[in-house]
Amino acid sequence: MVPGSPADEHLSATSDTIAAISTALGPGAIGIVRMSGPQAIAIAEKVFRPATRRTLGPADTFCLVYGHVIDPCAGEVVDEVLLAVMRAPRSYTREDVVEFHCHGGVAAQRSVLRVVLAQGARLAQPGEFTKRAFLNGRIDLAQAESVAAIVGARSSAALRAALRQLEGGLSGRVREIRARLIGVLARIEATLDFSDEDVEDVDWAQTASELEAASGKLHELLKTAFLGRALEQGVRTAIVGRPNVGKSSLLNALLARERAIVSDIPGTTRDTVEEGMEIGGIPIQLVDTAGIRKSNDLVEQLGVARSLKAIDHADLVLAVVDLSAPWSEDDREVLAATDPCRTIVVGNKRDLLSARKDEELVETLKRQAEAVRHGGWRVCVVSALTGAGLDRLRAMVEETVLGVEGISLEEPVLAAERHRVLVAEAQEAVEAALSGVRQGRPEELICEDVRAAAGALGQITGEDLTADLIDEIFSRFCLGK
Ligand code: GDP
Repeated sequence: MVPGSPADEHLSATSDTIAAISTALGPGAIGIVRMSGPQAIAIAEKVFRPATRRTLGPADTFCLVYGHVIDPCAGEVVDEVLLAVMRAPRSYTREDVVEFHCHGGVAAQRSVLRVVLAQGARLAQPGEFTKRAFLNGRIDLAQAESVAAIVGARSSAALRAALRQLEGGLSGRVREIRARLIGVLARIEATLDFSDEDVEDVDWAQTASELEAASGKLHELLKTAFLGRALEQGVRTAIVGRPNVGKSSLLNALLARERAIVSDIPGTTRDTVEEGMEIGGIPIQLVDTAGIRKSNDLVEQLGVARSLKAIDHADLVLAVVDLSAPWSEDDREVLAATDPCRTIVVGNKRDLLSARKDEELVETLKRQAEAVRHGGWRVCVVSALTGAGLDRLRAMVEETVLGVEGISLEEPVLAAERHRVLVAEAQEAVEAALSGVRQGRPEELICEDVRAAAGALGQITGEDLTADLIDEIFSRFCLGK
């Protein structure tokens, strides 16, 4: 067993053989029915007829065998398949695994599944194959959860982060911090347990510095939660600005297709329009909002309210201004409502000022923005009409998202809410222990906090888990995984 597998015996009993359709149901070239457990190969032998020989041999492992699935009761051919055999322990679950690569589409896969279920396999629950991989010690819990994240990844960066988690990046980081805390705990407890004997006193200065180091590392991990959430749900990006500056045109240009209605009448974009896209592998959820202009029109006022709300709820704001028009009170109001750290001021309609240099326009724009509010604004000039400057804007979006917390996409990222909560809990407990040390509180109380921190971290990798929690985690998987 890998470190981190549950020691609890009743958590690891997998005596039956499970089966499920592992590919998405619907028309497709191939579909896979997967089976895992002690009877997997025996059941396959009953229902599978190889085309060129009589039976499967014991040496058949990590191979594909061409043949047919036969319904042994009716004696009829069910489908023409390729059979993949992966014998224990070198398989996804560490059990005998058999996969029928049948024709795609609902009917063929369901028929093959029905035949193997009739021969004694049980229908797998969602996530049960991955759960077995965990229970049989092939992967730890954080790695198992990354499998669900890989399946659900909506962008290439999210996929990369999940793959790194599967390789054990996050688990390694968490284990290292947990080991440090357990070391601290052991040293304090030794003085409690053997206080009468000749045990050295706790070195409190060293304890404090170890706890500080652990807290720092947890803080580093927590900083990645923003990116993790962004990778999972997309960076909510609001395109704001007064009517007619070109918000909808910019949205369309970024999406490179017509989505929102573009018109010459100010204030037509009343509802918000949301679209997903990817910039540098980061999923971006673009929100185009109604103009911020104060209006007497009730419908438009609703739109204006939405626009201001969009700024509040956005991770990133693209504040659009019209380079060809003088700054208005509305422009200043928009900028005053945004946070310079997560805003890019986009000067649009650059094509109307073709005689002016980019640098000159950028400098002017920066000065105008700084006059509204000091904050080192990021500024970009573009033309939604011609597409000029859009690559620079995309690069700036990427810089802003990663730059907010100084994160690298190559480091482990806290992507799952469960992990974020547990790391935050651990950090809080470490901080409590640290202040206990500084205030000279009783050792027992300090130990309790350190134990709570180690316990929270243990739940990430699976060292500290109950059967209920494991069931809850795996039930969120899709069927057949
Ligand atoms: P919104 O109200 O801010 O969403 O603005 P729209 O996207 O509806 O654009 C308002 C008007 O400005 C339309 O006539 C667009 O064609 C025009 N427009 C938008 N972007 C540009 C640009 O980069 N250059 C020029 N010349 N016109 C633009």
